[in-house]
Amino acid sequence: MATTSCDVAIVGAGLGGCFLALLLARRGRSVVVIEQGPSIPAAGADFLKPPGLRVLARHGLAGLVARHGLRRDLIRYYHDGDPIQDCRFPEGGFLIRPYRELVELIHARCVAEGVEFRFGTAIGDIAVSGDGGGIEELALADGTRLRAGAVVGADGTRSAVREALGIGQLTLPYERLVMRVTTVPLAASVARLNRLYFSSDGWLAYFYPLGPEQARVFVGLPPECDEEVFQDGIPTLADELKKFVTESSDAFDSLQPATWQRIKISAMRVPAYHRGNAALLGSAAFACHPMTGMGMSYTLRDAEILADVIGAADGDRELLDRLMHLRYEPRRHAHRRLIDYGDALAATFHDRDAYLAAFREDLHTQGESTEPVVAARVPAPPPLQPV
Ligand SMILES: Cc1cc2nc3c(=O)[nH]c(=O)nc-3n(C[C@H](O)[C@H](O)[C@H](O)COP(=O)(O)OP(=O)(O)OC[C@H]3O[C@@H](n4cnc5c(N)ncnc54)[C@H](O)[C@@H]3O)c2cc1C
Repeated sequence: MATTSCDVAIVGAGLGGCFLALLLARRGRSVVVIEQGPSIPAAGADFLKPPGLRVLARHGLAGLVARHGLRRDLIRYYHDGDPIQDCRFPEGGFLIRPYRELVELIHARCVAEGVEFRFGTAIGDIAVSGDGGGIEELALADGTRLRAGAVVGADGTRSAVREALGIGQLTLPYERLVMRVTTVPLAASVARLNRLYFSSDGWLAYFYPLGPEQARVFVGLPPECDEEVFQDGIPTLADELKKFVTESSDAFDSLQPATWQRIKISAMRVPAYHRGNAALLGSAAFACHPMTGMGMSYTLRDAEILADVIGAADGDRELLDRLMHLRYEPRRHAHRRLIDYGDALAATFHDRDAYLAAFREDLHTQGESTEPVVAARVPAPPPLQPV
């Protein structure tokens, strides 16, 4: 069986994996990205908020990603049909761009910098060193073996790297919320403004443009309504939406029954982000409620820190372990605050005042905060157990 080696192996070619690969390749490191899918993943987020845009700008990528994206600077929130709040984004606002397009741009830059991508290649076996030193070797499903000075698991919520490292996770599904998403022709109300509606009954509907012709509609609803509504068809869905969607009804006409994709959403916390020479990045490390709209921004910042740490260690595994402890592990605190914030929003749908008290405009527009989230009604999560 052939064995090859590289400075850094990254598992997963999503936003986290591709951006980290680019930063490391620019520092002269040899990087191999292993992706089980045939290409860049299609499913992911559409919104890149100002903190993420600032990270890309620091690396000369802001112009590239913004060129064909759509800029918006306002989200209007509605509760039980009433407008309750405008969230304004200063300095050019945020960017709407479908996930795959965004990641493909970064992937193209990676290829130009010499990063090797192995698509359609899953991980077979992961050889972990017994002393907590991390990962020795990756056996790939194509029969080759890969040895790397550092390994990064950017392989999503079911991370094989995390499992091999013996790092547990606590996943708490948002049990009262099933998400559905579809793409529709752009209606005039959606072209004018991003509107996010939610209701005391636990429903959510978000309408936003994807470009000059198309729009995305996200609907979140309690599980018992999901079966009923999507079995009975679009007239039933429109009737339900009319109860709390007050200024986007022109988009109802284009809702089609067959095109709704179901998405499961959960909060996920893990107790450690690295072992020795191996680290977790992006959805392998944390997941939060999508109403925060911040997963990509934090992941980009995390990749920036990881690239600095791996670059500074310069192949010295002991130093890499120490720098991970000092500089990368503290990211868990920032993520915990973000997850707590998402939980606080999710827990206050039924109570407008509580929602407004929990809402943190600064977290959406400015980025990371060091303040704890104030949400008296949100139960503390149970202690973390490896699963
Ligand atoms: C419904 C929803 C809405 C969201 N909205 C927003 C938003 O508006 N703004 C925002 O900033 N964030 C949002 N997020 C979060 C955002 O999508 C994530 O933060 C981001 O996609 C993380 O990227 P990633 O690189 O970690 O993972 P992913 O994009 O999940 O990539 C992981 C990759 O690893 C590959 N992989 C998995 N296992 C293996 C294996 N064993 N071997 C090889 N490859 C493997 C997968 O095929 C995949 O390509 C949202 C998330 C959800 C669920």
